Amino acid sequence: MRWSRYLIPTTKEVPKDAVVASHQLMLRAGLIRQLAAGVYSYLPLGYRALRKVERIVREEMDRAGAIELHMPVMHPIELWEQTGRTQAMGDVLLRLAGPDGDWRTQTVLGPTHEEPVTEIARAYLNSYRILPVTLYQIQVKFRGEARPKSGVLRTREFLMKDAYSFDRDKEGLDASYKRMYEAYCRIFSRCGLPYIAVEAESGPIGGDASHEFMVLTDAGEDFVALTENSDYAANTERAVCAPLAQDNAAMLPIQEVHTPGQRTIDEVCAFLKTRPSQMIKTLVYVETARPATAGTPSAKSTAEEPAPVVVLVRGDHEVNENKLNRVSGARLQLAPPDIIRKLTGADVGFAGPHTLDKSGMKYRLIVDQAVSVMRNAATGDNKTDYHALNVNPTRDFPLTGDNVTVADVRTVVNGDLSPTGSGSPIRLRKAIEVGHVFKLGTKYSDAMRATFLDSDGKPKPLIMGCYGIGLNRIMAAAIEAHHDDGGIIWPLSIAPFQVLIIALDPREKDVMETADKLYKELNAAGLDVLFDDRDERAGFKFKDADLIGIPLRITVGRKALAEGVVELKGRSRPDVEKFAPDAVVRRVKELVQATS
Ligand code: ATP
Ligand code: MG
Repeated sequence: MRWSRYLIPTTKEVPKDAVVASHQLMLRAGLIRQLAAGVYSYLPLGYRALRKVERIVREEMDRAGAIELHMPVMHPIELWEQTGRTQAMGDVLLRLAGPDGDWRTQTVLGPTHEEPVTEIARAYLNSYRILPVTLYQIQVKFRGEARPKSGVLRTREFLMKDAYSFDRDKEGLDASYKRMYEAYCRIFSRCGLPYIAVEAESGPIGGDASHEFMVLTDAGEDFVALTENSDYAANTERAVCAPLAQDNAAMLPIQEVHTPGQRTIDEVCAFLKTRPSQMIKTLVYVETARPATAGTPSAKSTAEEPAPVVVLVRGDHEVNENKLNRVSGARLQLAPPDIIRKLTGADVGFAGPHTLDKSGMKYRLIVDQAVSVMRNAATGDNKTDYHALNVNPTRDFPLTGDNVTVADVRTVVNGDLSPTGSGSPIRLRKAIEVGHVFKLGTKYSDAMRATFLDSDGKPKPLIMGCYGIGLNRIMAAAIEAHHDDGGIIWPLSIAPFQVLIIALDPREKDVMETADKLYKELNAAGLDVLFDDRDERAGFKFKDADLIGIPLRITVGRKALAEGVVELKGRSRPDVEKFAPDAVVRRVKELVQATS
């Protein structure tokens, strides 16, 4: 491709709203252009890189035995109602608007494709003889993301490779999952991503086991918990740690203190001269909907309103709502002030676990493990403007009983210890999720009655797995991982072009002829070559070259040519090598072959 006839709108300006490096560089290098919030066009250079990612993904899916198909973006809403996901997805599920009863109001835009693929499986995967089958597509997804962010890392329209496996039994699913997991490792390695696989939360997709593939970078929105000795890695949405040890200090008598207007942990700590780790946060929740997931023990149901759930975590810890929902068997949300007042007899901000029974109201108590081993904690006194000191589990509130559960319901923090028992401390790191694999089980096949006839002649639900990769995110994550002050440093495998030829003095006949010849020869050798034939200053061209980050650069200039050489430089290396024009073609071919 000749630069002068191509479209690469580079710019020096750092766009104001672009904070993370990949976003800034993708705009500055002319890879993408924003059309609306969270909606981007891929300009020619960006599209070439995206297509390279796509090719790697397709090759590895095919190699893993997955079968490509293509499903529609428009789905009948009725399909999503069958699985209850119109509700679970909330505003993420985009609906077409139209007059009442119109087909538009019955149509949603696919944020993922479990429902349509299960509809296909229900129709055609009817016998154990056909199984296992893994189907995949590379296709656009639509999601009503509330806060599109960081360029193409979080958008409302994006390209996903989504695959779905169908098996006879759990062992089959394990094997399909492993095959996809390994294919993912190959995909991310080939794309030049420094990734790690971590245990993950399944979220509204459902299912029991899942892993996310993460690229560690501050540009990410996720936090992963990694142990220093690398024996454990999990998304903090799910991460667990070794239980904390019992504090054995002697129990002191409870003491009531007047704490006028001091509500938050920080205010109370400053006032009482204590530390957040010595405080109990008492939070009151109520149920929104249930059950959250099939198979978890559900709250004891009564005819009237379900009882509020009081949750205790240490002052320096946060409730992990995924864990809490699982433990409670319901989907919980913070209670409105009137319920808190009714239960505690105090304004919001003064709740404590030790005198809750005085209201006579029924409630469930969930005590985080870290609270259960505390001694002489400070907490609200269930009395407006008062706190209590020296509150002790067992003595002052129960750890056992019908309505009491002690469990891990908090998010891990820096310094917690590995759940493997190795004693290695956990560190939290920011990361970008580039891929996610789930064992779904029968969630969708049950809801949509997708069964097959097994060898015993009995109909059984298909056992499913699903596997997603964000192609745009791979591209941005690769830039996050590989750039410097000058611009992008593309991994050769996904670079829009492999080689850039710069003609330094394009008005010189010799220079242009040599550059042109190299361009033709490299093209003929099957390489992707960009030829900067623009009539611009050398400095300007070098700056652009660094910005767009093509891995190999050949410079043809008058001075070097007079010595019979051209210059070869790798984008990631400072040194320049000199070659005769004929030899450079061979050298470039070698370098490309060595990395592909
Ligand atoms: P997140 O937690 O970041 O919102 P998710 O868990 O909802 O993502 P999945 O449903 O697992 O995402 O989708 C599979 C893959 O699709 C993700 O691993 C990610 O690479 C990509 N992806 C998801 N949402 C977006 C988005 N809004 N923009 C770009 N890529 C996305
Ligand atoms: Mg995910």
